Amino acid sequence: MKQQLAINGGHKTVQKQFPWPIYDEHEVAAVAGIVRSGKWGNPDCGDAVEKFEKEFAVYCGSKYAITCVNGSVSLRLALIACGVKPGDEVIVPPYTFITTASSVIECNCVPVFVDIDPETYNIHPKAIESAITERTKAIIVVHFGGLACDMDAIMDIARRYNLRVIEDAAHAHSAEYKGQKLGSIGDVGSFSFQSSKNLTAGEGGIVITNNDELYAMMRSLRNVGRVEGGQWYDHYNPGCNYRITQMQAVLLSCQLKRLAEQTSRRNENGLFLDQLLSDIKGITPLRRDATITKHSYHIYIFKYDASEFGGLSKEKFADMLAAEGVPCFKGYPHPLYKQPLFQNKNFMCYAIPDDVDYMTIHCPVAELACATEAVWILQHAMLGEREDMIAFAEAVRKIQSAMKADL
Ligand SMILES: *Cc1c(COP(=O)(O)O)cnc(C)c1O
Repeated sequence: MKQQLAINGGHKTVQKQFPWPIYDEHEVAAVAGIVRSGKWGNPDCGDAVEKFEKEFAVYCGSKYAITCVNGSVSLRLALIACGVKPGDEVIVPPYTFITTASSVIECNCVPVFVDIDPETYNIHPKAIESAITERTKAIIVVHFGGLACDMDAIMDIARRYNLRVIEDAAHAHSAEYKGQKLGSIGDVGSFSFQSSKNLTAGEGGIVITNNDELYAMMRSLRNVGRVEGGQWYDHYNPGCNYRITQMQAVLLSCQLKRLAEQTSRRNENGLFLDQLLSDIKGITPLRRDATITKHSYHIYIFKYDASEFGGLSKEKFADMLAAEGVPCFKGYPHPLYKQPLFQNKNFMCYAIPDDVDYMTIHCPVAELACATEAVWILQHAMLGEREDMIAFAEAVRKIQSAMKADL
């Protein structure tokens, strides 16, 4: 019996709302405490920022953490500290948020896009290795959706070619690879605390590292080039004011206390949803290897095959699924190199050689993911109960039977 779809006025499969961010009086009291103290800034007053940095570093099993204004600037701090020079090449994936690649341009370097693995949507180690040239200085890997990249293979390539590895872990707070927290494996790990992220203060970012020199440089860049022990108006490095407020820091300290439990819940729900969706023809969850000891599911991703849904486009499918009450999204419309920014080379970047032409780049796996395959379920929905996962799968089946009945 064919049920009417919610998009056409039928009953909505998922009635529940999934709130985000999650907070209570602890967060309210912590922020109010800072407001009342009158010590809002850092480092000129108050130590809430240093306190959070220590907590986050310990949480990730890293030696150092340095907060900054967002998870885009954090990538720039990492790149500059890693010693990139104008014209150097940095290998990046094309299936990610714009600043993974635009941070490279801001450093007067050349982003080199390489394709992703069709089963994980993470940067492909083989593709990295084939893209290495004399000018390659670093690799930015993105643990997309919170699923760890193949870090053993990537670190092995980096050692063999003497390259720096920056982990863009903006989706991967508390996620793990072989028991190790993501962000703590490469030279620098970079995180965002923007509103949608799994750990948030509305805005904010952080870098973590075990390397004393990278730490000192990123700390200096964050604080207008000042150095430890230097005078207030002495500036040594090409940084800027990228500092966060004390209000953000105490909010993050409160939110961090919730992170382990929230991550476990998303991880368990993700494993369960994998089972449920694998049983539906035309739906394939991304591959999760045994190396993935914890997935943060900032985005739960599955591959959609329109041919099992009566040829229904991915866009329409995602709209129907959202109407059924599943917090989902059709994902990126294009791989990054297709963005007008790259197609038109609309850069304030003097060091990109004339022969670099993003019009001729072609990463077929990323293009397919954008065009027809990838559907995203968002992290706050992954904080639901097991019964909610069952309802998500039911919503998919409902659309499928409606489309098949239409044939
Ligand atoms: C969100 C995000 C960023 C940028 O973080 P902001 O804090 O929004 O600047 C960088 N990389 C990825 C993969 C992201 O999803």
